[in-house]
Amino acid sequence: MISDVENRLRALLPEATFREKAPRYFEEPRGRYTGSAGLVLAPGSTEEVAEVLRVAHETNTPVIPYGGGTGLVGGQIAEGINDPIVLSVEHMNAIRAVHPSENVLVAEAGAILADVQTAARDAGRIFPLSLASEGSARIGGLLATNAGGTGVLRYGNARDLTLGIEAVLADGTIWHGLTRLRKDNAGYDLRNLLIGSEGTLGVITAAALKLSPIPAETGTAIFTIPSPDAALELLAFTRSQVGEGISAFELINRQGFEFLAETMPDVRLPFSDAPEWSVLIELGLPRGLPTEAAFESLFEAALEADLTADAIIAQSEAQSQELWAVREQIPEANRRIGSVSSHDISMPLSEIPSFIRETPARLAEIGDFRINCFGHVGDGNLHYNIFPMPGRSRADHENERPAIKRTIHDLVHDRGGSVAAEHGVGRLKVEDLERYGDPTLLAMMRAVKGALDPQGILNPGVMLRG
Ligand SMILES: Cc1cc2nc3c(=O)[nH]c(=O)nc-3n(C[C@H](O)[C@H](O)[C@H](O)COP(=O)(O)OP(=O)(O)OC[C@H]3O[C@@H](n4cnc5c(N)ncnc54)[C@H](O)[C@@H]3O)c2cc1C
Repeated sequence: MISDVENRLRALLPEATFREKAPRYFEEPRGRYTGSAGLVLAPGSTEEVAEVLRVAHETNTPVIPYGGGTGLVGGQIAEGINDPIVLSVEHMNAIRAVHPSENVLVAEAGAILADVQTAARDAGRIFPLSLASEGSARIGGLLATNAGGTGVLRYGNARDLTLGIEAVLADGTIWHGLTRLRKDNAGYDLRNLLIGSEGTLGVITAAALKLSPIPAETGTAIFTIPSPDAALELLAFTRSQVGEGISAFELINRQGFEFLAETMPDVRLPFSDAPEWSVLIELGLPRGLPTEAAFESLFEAALEADLTADAIIAQSEAQSQELWAVREQIPEANRRIGSVSSHDISMPLSEIPSFIRETPARLAEIGDFRINCFGHVGDGNLHYNIFPMPGRSRADHENERPAIKRTIHDLVHDRGGSVAAEHGVGRLKVEDLERYGDPTLLAMMRAVKGALDPQGILNPGVMLRG
């Protein structure tokens, strides 16, 4: 009984741990899942998280770790689970230490990404994880989902940016894995197992994160391109010119601009006539190599090679932010339109153009849709989202959603791609993982889950069927 669990916990934990069951703990950005809870708890320390898990373990109570609530696959939402504990890390938001000489920052799981970025800047460094939800997403959630974002091309995803973690296991044992070492081959790599495990193997309570130097020269530009093939050619060409200096390379389709114009007219669009395809490029170069000059010579060469017809090179930090706002508001514009089905997919880079060419015709066999294809093309990661035609709503297409999803995911799988690129599996893609995942991988995952959480109390139904 949850009341017995509550009584036991009230004897162990301060009053502030017990939170109101506010709607935000039960809603998620796309409105697909609705949760519930027996208790919402926000412990203030790793030891308190351990107390919660010890009691949960002894009473067989499900625990749903909760960060910023921005996850897009329903992992943080306890739908269909009887009286779970929603365990929020919101009270554990300290930056425990900054070690500029080591390029390391140690943050608690509840630290908001934007605050970690600011703390890194204050120390003359950057923490290069960057995504549109950075004002709300918390370090624990970002690591639990192995978040990607716009900086992966240069700096890697959350896993690549982490040196050590502290976590509490299902039985309440604390793992003190908060190392700042860059070389440590002592044993299995359990840090990387817990990162990306979406709260199913342990609750991350803190992390030692890798910082990077602030690039001396930074700049942003948007190039129109004739096709997705041209995006890849331009990427290769840019690399040949500036090496690892590409900090972001984001594909944008005309549909994204149209959705912004329709739903968020305050967002200033870069081109008066929206191009069919464009790429937003950010460069970060060493001192003495101004990005404006680099973009200008890139543009001239790309124009010559028919890889672009027009470009806007930001002339100031404000203009750069304006260009980024366009890219970062696309998910919000999508949300306002209301997608029928959204797909976070990745595939080998060379497969992307044929996927983008072939998929619309396959979807047209199901119905008439608007497609917004955008994303981190430099990483081979697309957000391929399907919307109703004007005048229709997502509800009109409820019955077509499974066929749309199957069509897209089959095309991705046939190309050696992944149907869970950066957002994770959550509750949304459990069946997809069963369908497309390697059987040996699934068997190993079940064995690991059985070993670390034998009662299955941690985030049941996420990643693996409960
Ligand atoms: C507008 C928008 C843009 C986005 N853009 C991107 C993007 O570019 N790239 C990208 O990768 N994602 C993106 N996301 C998805 C989302 O922001 C990430 O998945 C983020 O990492 C989730 O962090 P969170 O703190 O909100 O976690 P939550 O949503 O609270 O939780 C996510 C998962 O992690 C688990 N979890 C949370 N905290 C912990 C913890 N301390 N220990 C163990 N498990 C935990 C939860 O149980 C759940 O399974 C976007 C989301 C939005 C709304």
